[in-house]
Amino acid sequence: MGCIMKQQIRELIQTYISEYQQREEIATCYGEPLVGFADAWHPYIQSLPQVVSPTHELPQNILPDVKTIIAYYVPFTKDLAKSNRTGGITASPEWARAYEETNALFAELNEEIIRFIHAKAGHAGITPKAVTFYQDRLISDWSQRHIAYAAGLGTFGLNNMLLTRCGCCGRFSTVLTNLDLEADQPLTVEYCLYKKNGTCGACVKHCPTGALTYDGYDRFKCYAVCKENAKIYTQFGSSYTNEDGSGANSVGSEVCGKCITGSPCAFWKLESRKK
Ligand code: SF4
Ligand code: SF4
Repeated sequence: MGCIMKQQIRELIQTYISEYQQREEIATCYGEPLVGFADAWHPYIQSLPQVVSPTHELPQNILPDVKTIIAYYVPFTKDLAKSNRTGGITASPEWARAYEETNALFAELNEEIIRFIHAKAGHAGITPKAVTFYQDRLISDWSQRHIAYAAGLGTFGLNNMLLTRCGCCGRFSTVLTNLDLEADQPLTVEYCLYKKNGTCGACVKHCPTGALTYDGYDRFKCYAVCKENAKIYTQFGSSYTNEDGSGANSVGSEVCGKCITGSPCAFWKLESRKK
């Protein structure tokens, strides 16, 4: 029963994305999504207030009878990545638009997943913290990437992204449920070439600001660039809200992504890569 339900959820996500990108008003194209299922009570998820931020939300505070977190990765396309490879710190308009259209996709698709689970007599929910952005701390209280890691979707790269077996040029989202679905486990492989054997470093070389170095990631330097792009790209919307949910907290699309779009880990196929 659990296997059938998992397959139905995978198919729902695939179909929804496929239909979404065919809408006339949507310019962004997507690849085949990856879907993972995390045990909401896994010690890694329960340790996120220690790992990510002391105020990181715990799943049981969002859905008291939570058992599983559905995590999914929606890849962008190579053409979109190519559009964003040049231009110094300025992101391409296609990249900015894709960011906002994907935020809108997540809002709709997550509601659809919740409706599906309700129809199966289950409970499901999301947290507003997933779309709340704290400009003073620049750390999320619901890290989609860390939950996707717990769901076995990838490993963290030097570029601070979660590298999936299909790449890291895409976005993650999550939905919580009380359905007891067999959980995936965090991967025991190392995908990042630098972490694996000290090679590559393309992400560091492509960062135009020095925010990303071999020694770490300066989120404040990075955010300064994203804010510059938000001043340019005001036409696509701004999907992140203030802490009190009172509306958009940015003038536009806070994007950059140069460290991703020219890297070998943006799109790859790693089915057999081992530690
Ligand atoms: S570009 Fe290379 S070093 Fe950077 S995250 Fe990807 S694989 Fe790792
Ligand atoms: S998004 Fe990447 S490339 Fe752009 S400033 Fe931040 S770390 Fe550097």
